[in-house]
Amino acid sequence: MARARILPIFVPHLGCPNDCVFCDQKRISGSPLPASGRDVTAALDRAAAEGLSGLELAFYGGSFTAVSPALQRELLEAAQPYLADGTVSAVRLSTRPDAVDEESLVFLKKYGVRTVELGAQSMDDGVLAASGRGHTAGDTVRAAKLVRAAGLQLILQMMTGLPESSRDKDVQTARRIAALEPDGVRIYPTVIVKNTPLETMWRACEYREHTLADAVAVCADILPIFDEAGIPVIRLGLNPTAELSGGGAVGGAYHPALGEMVRSEVLRRRAAALLRDVPGGTSAVTLGVAPKRVSAMIGRHRSNLRALSDEFGVTVTVKPVEGAGEEILLVDAGR
Ligand code: SF4
Repeated sequence: MARARILPIFVPHLGCPNDCVFCDQKRISGSPLPASGRDVTAALDRAAAEGLSGLELAFYGGSFTAVSPALQRELLEAAQPYLADGTVSAVRLSTRPDAVDEESLVFLKKYGVRTVELGAQSMDDGVLAASGRGHTAGDTVRAAKLVRAAGLQLILQMMTGLPESSRDKDVQTARRIAALEPDGVRIYPTVIVKNTPLETMWRACEYREHTLADAVAVCADILPIFDEAGIPVIRLGLNPTAELSGGGAVGGAYHPALGEMVRSEVLRRRAAALLRDVPGGTSAVTLGVAPKRVSAMIGRHRSNLRALSDEFGVTVTVKPVEGAGEEILLVDAGR
C-alpha cells in the first residue's frame, strides 16, 4: 500500500474526559497548545510553499470526535482549500472508540476524512479499567464496525504491557484486533512518562515496568499474527521525541529502534526453528535472506548471530539471496 506523506497536526488532550494512566499528551505530542484552524492553514501554507502536494493531513494526539463540533468544523474547514488544490489528498485522525457514532462519521466523510484511527489499546476489559481508559473492548468492536461500514479506512492502535496485562492478554488483544480486519495497526509498548499516574503507580510498586526485553518478546509474538493476517503494522513503538529522549520517558519500553529490534527477534526465532533440524556435528551454517533483511537477521551488534551460535554451538553467517522473499534459507551447513 503506497502511503502519502503525512503532515501531523496535534490536538493535545482536547475533548478528552479521561485520564489514561500512561498519558501525558502534551509531553508525547511535544505541543502544549490546542490546535486551531489558523494552525492548520499555517502548516499547509508552509507545505505548499515548499512545493509539497498530495499530503495526508493527520489530526493526532487527542480524541478528535470528542472535541466540540465547532472546533472539529474549524479544523476541517481550514483544510478544504488545500484538498481542492491538491496540496492535501486526504485527511486522517485519531480518536477514542467510545467517541464514534454514525453521525460523527458522516460528518467526517463530508470533510474529506478518509482514515480513522481508534485507540483500542487492549481488548481486555480488566486491563482497560486498570489503565483508566473509560471504555470497553465492546466499544472498540462497535466503533470498528461503524468505521468500516461508513467506507472509511480503519487503523487500530494497541498497547502492550499495560497495568494488569500479561504476555498472554497482549497476544489475545492482537488476535481480537486482527479479527476486526483493520487496514493497519500501530503497536505501542507502554512507556512510563514523567508526571503521569503510571509513574506514581510504578514508583509505589503498584505497576511492574514493561521493560524493553518484555516488549521485544511480546511484540515478536504479536507481529506474526498481523503478518499472517496480511495487516500492515504501520508503527511499532512511540515516535522518538526530544522531550521523551531528554528525560520524559522515565521507564518502560522506549527505544528509537524498537521496531527493528522486534523484527530482528522474529527472524532469530525463525532461524532457531530451522537450526533445530541441522544434523549434529555441523560446525558452521550460512543463512540466506532477502537483501533487505540481512541486517535484521544479523541483529543489533550481531546479537542474533551470537545468540544462535550459543544455542546451537555453530558459527552462523548470513548472506543476501535475491528472491528469498520472506523465507530464511539454509544455504550451507558445513562440518
Ligand atoms: S483517551 Fe487517554 S490517551 Fe487519549 S488523550 Fe485521553 S487521556 Fe490521553
